[in-house]
Amino acid sequence: MRFLLPYRAELFYSARVILEITKYGHPVLREKGKRIDRITPEIRQLAADMIETMYAASGVGLAAQQIGQPLQLTVIDVSQSEQPWGMTPSLPQPVILVNPQLLHPAGEQVGQEGCLSIPEVAADIRRAEKITVRAQDLDGNNITFECTGLLARAAQHEVDHLNGILFVDRMDAATRVSLAGQLKRLQKETLATLGKPSRLRRALAKL
Ligand SMILES: [Zn+2]
Repeated sequence: MRFLLPYRAELFYSARVILEITKYGHPVLREKGKRIDRITPEIRQLAADMIETMYAASGVGLAAQQIGQPLQLTVIDVSQSEQPWGMTPSLPQPVILVNPQLLHPAGEQVGQEGCLSIPEVAADIRRAEKITVRAQDLDGNNITFECTGLLARAAQHEVDHLNGILFVDRMDAATRVSLAGQLKRLQKETLATLGKPSRLRRALAKL
C-alpha cells in the first residue's frame, strides 16, 4: 500500500512508521544479520522506518535486529549530540549503512553507553577512539569514512548488533554481575510477550 503513490513524495514520507523496538531477551538480537545483496523498495522503506523509530526513541543509532530483522542494515545520527565526534569526509546524517565493515581501529575511549533494546541500563564501555567505516548506501554505492568520539562509539555499538553482540557483553565482569538481576527481569518480561501478535510483525509482513 505504501508504494502505490511513490511519485507523491509527501504521501510516501508520511507513510513512515514507528516500529516496535525489540527488547533484551528477544532471540533476534542474538542473530547475525544477513548480507543485503539487492536494495529493494522494502529495504528502502525499512531504512526510512528505522530512522523514524530511532528519532522517536531519541536514539543516535538503530540496527535492523532492533526492529526484528536480522539484516546487515543500520542507521546512525549523532549530529544533535553535545558529545564530541568527528567524521572525515563529512557525510549528511542520518547515515544509512548497508553491509558495514569496521576497519583500522585505533586508540581507546571509555564512556557511558546505553541501548534502546535494554532500557534503563547504562555502563562504561571501552571502544576504539577512531575507526574507519566501509559500507554501501541505499543506492548501492560504496561509502567510506573515518570517525572518532561518539560517532565511532555508535558505529561500533551498531555493528556489534549486526553481529548479534550486545553492549552488555562488553561490560566488565563486576558491572555485569551488578546488573544481572535487572537483565534477567527484562529477559523474562520480553520472553513473556513473545508469541503474542505484535504491531512489529504486521508492519513487516512484506519482508
Ligand atoms: Zn543498542
